[in-house]
Amino acid sequence: KEGLTKTRDTLRDKLAFVSRGKTEVDDEFLEELENILVAADVGVETTLDIVDAVTVRSKGKTYRSEEELNEMVMGEIRNLLVESGHEHPVDFDAPLSAKPYVIMIVGVNGAGKTTTVAKLAHNYDKAGKKVVIAAADTFRAAAYEQLKIWADRAGVPIIGQGQGADPASVVFDSVSSAVSKGTDVVLVDTAGRLHNKSHLMEELAKIMRVAKKKIPEAPHEVLLVLDGTTGQNAVQQAREFTKFVNVTGLVMTKLDGTSKGGIVLSISRELNLPVKYIGVGEKIDDLQLFDRKSFVEALLE
Ligand code: GDP
Repeated sequence: KEGLTKTRDTLRDKLAFVSRGKTEVDDEFLEELENILVAADVGVETTLDIVDAVTVRSKGKTYRSEEELNEMVMGEIRNLLVESGHEHPVDFDAPLSAKPYVIMIVGVNGAGKTTTVAKLAHNYDKAGKKVVIAAADTFRAAAYEQLKIWADRAGVPIIGQGQGADPASVVFDSVSSAVSKGTDVVLVDTAGRLHNKSHLMEELAKIMRVAKKKIPEAPHEVLLVLDGTTGQNAVQQAREFTKFVNVTGLVMTKLDGTSKGGIVLSISRELNLPVKYIGVGEKIDDLQLFDRKSFVEALLE
């Protein structure tokens, strides 16, 4: 929550400033409102929806005070930001729809994939669920070793076959082991880079096919990890992935270091994907369930 302080103050203060000395909405007002929202990175579509809503709401109206005008504007922004997504936050201790429940984690190198796998492992473990990590990034040097350190920290087992191994085979082993050991959650870490992009996408598709051989419904979730500080770049990356794998939700990382919390809302809307979790730091505990309503409140507080 701390990391969002910068956005909060700026956005609320700026919005209050637009209403200063005014009791009616005019063109200048709408233009300033639009500029502020675009700068806050809530996304162009959402910005235009908000400007439209404020226009309709204020038509022919004179407000009693600038405060009342500001309140109306804040209310419209709040509604549209909350309505622009469709998340159903599910706590880690809620029962899962399958056993084992297979979650595949995808994203480019550096986005925070490994850290997110560790954070998820930790949270599921803390909630009393039996977890195994499948080290299916067999391309990046030392990927297994890094993941092993995190797995140890989280206190969960990891299955891997070393660099150069077939990642689909790692996944098959992991899912098989989970079935026989009564594991609740299989977290599949995948490669973020191979020799080229099409090779990577084919590999991810193959991993999904192989998981299905063991469990037809697997993977039950595919989480795309995006670096929240990279803005529009993250959208480009996401489009590549969503072409080849059936992404079910987003994890937006590094939101502790950014003053641009709005980007989460705009990316989610552009991709039409729910945000499941947000990363707010480098430690194993720094993962939060994404609750859009409170996120928007924090943004506007
Ligand atoms: P991967 O290459 O996608 O597996 O990315 P890593 O998990 O190795 O993370 C890349 C870098 O981002 C590391 O230095 C992490 O500590 C850092 N990182 C990951 N998630 C977060 C986060 O939520 N906040 C911050 N500040 N750093 C993060």
